[in-house]
Amino acid sequence: MVNLPLPLDIPIEEGCNTCVACIKSCPTDAIVEPYVVDARRCISYLTIELQGAIPEEFRPLIGNRIYGCDDCQLVCPVNSKAPITAESDFHTRQALIQPELIDLFAWSETFFLRQTEGSAIRRIGHKRWLRNIAIALGNAPANPNIIAALEQRKLSDEVDAMVIEHIDWAIAQQKQKAPQEALSRKTQRVIRSIEKGLPRDA
Ligand code: SF4
Ligand code: SF4
Repeated sequence: MVNLPLPLDIPIEEGCNTCVACIKSCPTDAIVEPYVVDARRCISYLTIELQGAIPEEFRPLIGNRIYGCDDCQLVCPVNSKAPITAESDFHTRQALIQPELIDLFAWSETFFLRQTEGSAIRRIGHKRWLRNIAIALGNAPANPNIIAALEQRKLSDEVDAMVIEHIDWAIAQQKQKAPQEALSRKTQRVIRSIEKGLPRDA
């Protein structure tokens, strides 16, 4: 508690009108009605806040989102008018620009901690980092290199039972899918919205 005279912020006004872009674009239908998010379904909660296993029903819907989601923010027309911050701490780090999932999955804990120093990503820790990437690898198009990376990681001393369970899930997903699968309609819609409204975030 403080007794300083803090400045008042400006009350937020409802300005959605007939727009439902975020509701329609949410990969897990987490926005259950206007202005109401069921956090238990939200990918940002599942990949960042949740400590243990991610429920299986959400894993295929997570796609390649390994830390948070924010699709609802990307498609929001209000956000498309917001200026980009000049604060370099919020800019994408070099190692995280268009990375290969397999490369990120190979990061040791030491390397992970070094790469994420000063970043919010660091607080999920290496095991949840591996958990999230395992899901993304399971969701990736069928690729024998991915299966090899998953099986190799399973043998490392940096995984626990929780991570191994996600790796096994990912291997099973990889083995059962056809070589090339089309992107879901929701994913295609988000990509179109980003290309039209927020190319800087694509
Ligand atoms: S962050 Fe993603 S999963 Fe969460 S409410 Fe927004 S669109 Fe849905
Ligand atoms: S996308 Fe933005 S403007 Fe549209 S309903 Fe969601 S919060 Fe409102």
